[in-house]
Amino acid sequence: MSDCLFCKIITGDIPSDKVYEDADVYAFKDIHPKAPTHVLVIPKQHIDTFADCEDPALLGMLLDRVRTIADDVLNLQAGYRIVIKVREGGGQEVFHLHAHILGGKKLPF
Ligand code: AMP
Ligand code: ZN
Repeated sequence: MSDCLFCKIITGDIPSDKVYEDADVYAFKDIHPKAPTHVLVIPKQHIDTFADCEDPALLGMLLDRVRTIADDVLNLQAGYRIVIKVREGGGQEVFHLHAHILGGKKLPF
């Protein structure tokens, strides 16, 4: 998806503050953080939105990486929140599947 913002972040065509990368995912700091720690984890494979993903293994992989990044990279042992917005009704603005990791303080509802 050549016109996808997050695909361009993966390739480095758009700069980002990377916190983790492996063969399957890329993770970087959200440009408008909503918590002291706010990181986005995206699969390298372009998928528009959670509801369109037909690959359960990819969803499992994504959540597994979220957990690894939260624990081992971001040191969020106190806890954190995972948010996946789905389509416009869920508030999704960037249509490349991504999980938000929010932490670093006790989060209000
Ligand atoms: P969503 O509302 O779930 O689609 O989340 C999109 C997120 O991407 C928002 O929290 C934005 O602040 C964030 N964002 C947009 N552009 C960038 C960028 N260039 N670098 C880092 N985060 C971004
Ligand atoms: Zn993309």
